[in-house]
Amino acid sequence: MAYNSIKQRLENNDTIILDGAIGAELEKKGAKMHKDLWCGTCSVESPDLVKKVHEDYILAGADIITTNTYATTPIAMKQYGFKDQINEFNKKSVQLAKEAAKNSNKKVAIAGSVSTFGSLYKYGVEAMVPGFKEQLNILSGEGVDLIILEAMSSQADIVETIVESTKETKLPVWLSISCVIDDQTNKVMLGYNDTLHTDTNVYEDFELSINNFSKIHNGPILVAHSDIKVTGEAIKIARNNFNGVLGAYPNRGHYEKPNWKFIDNITPSEYLENARSWVKDGVNIVGGCCGVGVEEIKAISILKKNQNA
Ligand SMILES: [Zn+2]
Repeated sequence: MAYNSIKQRLENNDTIILDGAIGAELEKKGAKMHKDLWCGTCSVESPDLVKKVHEDYILAGADIITTNTYATTPIAMKQYGFKDQINEFNKKSVQLAKEAAKNSNKKVAIAGSVSTFGSLYKYGVEAMVPGFKEQLNILSGEGVDLIILEAMSSQADIVETIVESTKETKLPVWLSISCVIDDQTNKVMLGYNDTLHTDTNVYEDFELSINNFSKIHNGPILVAHSDIKVTGEAIKIARNNFNGVLGAYPNRGHYEKPNWKFIDNITPSEYLENARSWVKDGVNIVGGCCGVGVEEIKAISILKKNQNA
């Protein structure tokens, strides 16, 4: 299984390269975004482009590619009129990632993205559990190598609930969370500051949150969907409060419905310098989230100790 080599390399303190954005990269390649389900419709409407995104990341050196399932949560699909296609969309996304991995003849692991996208916070945390479990079951059943819980717009109790929902899954489970700097106190907080998520922003003490998460999840924990600048700060806090494997895959730019705007222009070599500093600070998994594309992943892939991996 492809995950064994990831595990071994993590034990050897190597750097694992994740892919970059799926949604924003699909936009760049001309795929049509759905007004509510964002890139969730792409695996069925533009399967060749989705496969191409995966293939490009593999060529760029990604050890792990992520399924295009961030936006196809049962909770979002039911909300936006796709309730009969939950299986179809999620399965298709796994199949496309598998095809890309297989065609590459490389040891590429496939991460199934399970997220909180479209969560109906007003119904309470418990109401989200069936959706998490449904998506987990579909992705596991379709043969992903690991799960990434992308709890990026979530408050601590939702993160805990999504982690709890994975208790029965036999696959390795990674956890992604996002953070922002509070303008007023200059402190790193659990939360986010974009409009990709329609729910309220979350501002909870990041150090406290990491402490709590370390009790319920032994890692890897990844700082994701956050600005590049805050990511460096967050990693230091995480390292001081968590002994497990850490990762980082920040954003570049911001979201204006229904498209990702690539406004700030950080070069791939600047991205590499940032990634190098995160590795120095104790991170073993690096990649990119929204706005980070193939060029950046290619640049950071030189951080692998074993270039033949
Ligand atoms: Zn993102």
